[in-house]
Amino acid sequence: MRIAVVGSGYVGLVSAACFAEIGHNVVSIDNDPDKITALERGEVPIHELHLSELLDRHHNHRLRFSTSLGDSIRDAEAIFITVGTPQSETGEADLSYVESVAREMASALRGQQLVVEKSTVPVNTCDSLRRALVLNGAPSQSFSVASNPEFLREGTAVVDFLYPDRIVIGADDEFSRTVLSKIYAPLANGTYYRQREAIRLHNGVYDRAPIIVTNAKSAELIKHASNAFLAMKISFINAVANISESVGADIQQVCAGIGSDSRIGPKFLNAGIGYGGSCFPKDVQAFRMVSEQCNYEFGLLKEVTKINTEQQRLFVKKVQSALWTLRGKKLGVLGLAFKGETDDVRESPAIAIVNALVKEGATARAYDPAAMRRAADLLPKEGMTFASNPYDAAVGCDALLILTEWREFAALDLERVRRALRHPIVVDGRNLFDPEKASRAGLIYYSIGRPACMPDRSLLTGQEEDYAATSHRIESPLSAGATS
Ligand code: NAD
Repeated sequence: MRIAVVGSGYVGLVSAACFAEIGHNVVSIDNDPDKITALERGEVPIHELHLSELLDRHHNHRLRFSTSLGDSIRDAEAIFITVGTPQSETGEADLSYVESVAREMASALRGQQLVVEKSTVPVNTCDSLRRALVLNGAPSQSFSVASNPEFLREGTAVVDFLYPDRIVIGADDEFSRTVLSKIYAPLANGTYYRQREAIRLHNGVYDRAPIIVTNAKSAELIKHASNAFLAMKISFINAVANISESVGADIQQVCAGIGSDSRIGPKFLNAGIGYGGSCFPKDVQAFRMVSEQCNYEFGLLKEVTKINTEQQRLFVKKVQSALWTLRGKKLGVLGLAFKGETDDVRESPAIAIVNALVKEGATARAYDPAAMRRAADLLPKEGMTFASNPYDAAVGCDALLILTEWREFAALDLERVRRALRHPIVVDGRNLFDPEKASRAGLIYYSIGRPACMPDRSLLTGQEEDYAATSHRIESPLSAGATS
C-alpha cells in the first residue's frame, strides 16, 4: 500500500522503516529540513537497533523522505500522524502539532484516504481531528480518521514494532478497519516472519501479531491507560523499595516474590531512580487532565508522579549521605539517557540528578554510550566534563554513580572501577550489580531498596579500611525528613 508518515522522530522514522520492511511504499515526512537532508544522505538521527539496516535496505526503493506534506500525501492511501504531543503548561497534551498537520493536509486530501493518529493523544482526539480537517477544507466524504496507538519502546523500537504484543486498531467505520488490517496483514498473518531477510526475534517463538479491534475512543484510552499503568508499577515498586531499604530487606528478593504471581508478572518491577522519557511523565499528566475533564478525581495518578519525583530527590540525598557533603566532591556518572540502549534524554532522571548534584557544589564527569551529545545542552556548562569510557569517568572520583541501565555498564569490571576511583564508593541508582560481587571487588556499594554493602576487608588499603569503617550505614530513605 502507499503510506505517508508525518513526523520522522523516534516513532515516525521507525514506523516508516518498518512499514517499508513489511512491503509498503512509504514516504517519511518531516518539517525539519536538516533532519530530512541528513536522512537523504544516509545518516541515522537516532540510536535504535536495526534502524540503520532497515534504512539502508529500503531508502530509495520502498522508502523516501520529504519535507513537503501536501505533495507527499496526495497519493497516499493511509497517512499516519506521528508528531510530538508534549505536555502543555496546564498538564494537558499539547495538540498544536497535530492540529497544524491537520491544517496543512486538509487541502491535499482527495478520494478515499485514511488519516491515522499514531501519536499519543487524549481520548476524543479522533473527533477533533476529523473536525479540524473539515474546517480546513477537506471534503468530509473524502477521508476517514482512525486511531492506531504505538507501543514501541525506545532502544528496542524496531523489534517492538515488528513483533508487537498487540496491534490496536481503533476504527469507527469499515473502511478504516479494512485499510489498517491490510497494512498490518504481513504481521497479523505471519508472512513477514517467514521471509528469509526478516529481522529476527532473538528469544522466544512468535508467528503472528495479535490484532485488537476497538472503536477510536477505546484505542485512545488504551494507550493512555497502558502508560499510566506502567508508570504506576514503577512508582509502586520504588515505594516498596524505600520500605525495603529502611527495614533491611532486599528489593530484588521482594520483586522475585511479587513478580512470580502470574497476576502481577515480573516485568517493570525494577526499583531505581524513577521513570523518565518523553512518554510516561507527560502521559500520566495528560491522562490525569482527561479524568479531570470527566469530573473524576484520579488521585492515584497524582501519587504516581509524586513518588517518581521524590525518588530522584532521595537519590541525591543518598549520594550526599555517602559522601557527607557534596561541595567540592568529584562524581563519576554513568548514564545520561532516560533508560538504557537509547540516546533519548528527554525528562531523563539522570539529567535531573546531575543538575541537582552540581547545584549542590559537586563536579561531575559523565559517560553515556549514546546520549552525551544530546545531554550536553541540558547540563551545566561549569562543573561538568565528559569521559571517553566508563572507567575514564571513574578516574580520581570520590564516588561513581550509576544513573542509566545500559547493558554495557552491567558488564563492567568492578575491580578496574575500584582502581580508577579515589574512594571506592559506588551509588547505583539502577541496581545493576550483585552487592556481593561489588563487595568482593572492594567497593562500598549503595543501591536502591537493598542494604548498603561494605567491601571485603582483605581487599582494602589501610586508608580505605578507615573510610569503610566509618560508612557502615547510609541514612534510610524514610528516615526523619527524607520524605518532606
Ligand atoms: P519526536 O519529537 O521524536 O518526533 C516528532 C517529529 O515530528 C519531529 O521530527 C518533528 O520535527 C516532526 N514534526 C513536528 N511537526 C511537524 C509537521 N507539522 N510536519 C511534519 N513533521 C513535523 O517524537 P516521538 O518520540 O517520535 O513521539 C511522537 C508521538 O508518539 C508522541 O505523541 C509520543 O507520545 C508518541 N509515542 C512515543 C514513543 C516513544 O518511545 N518515543 C512511543 C509511543 C508513542
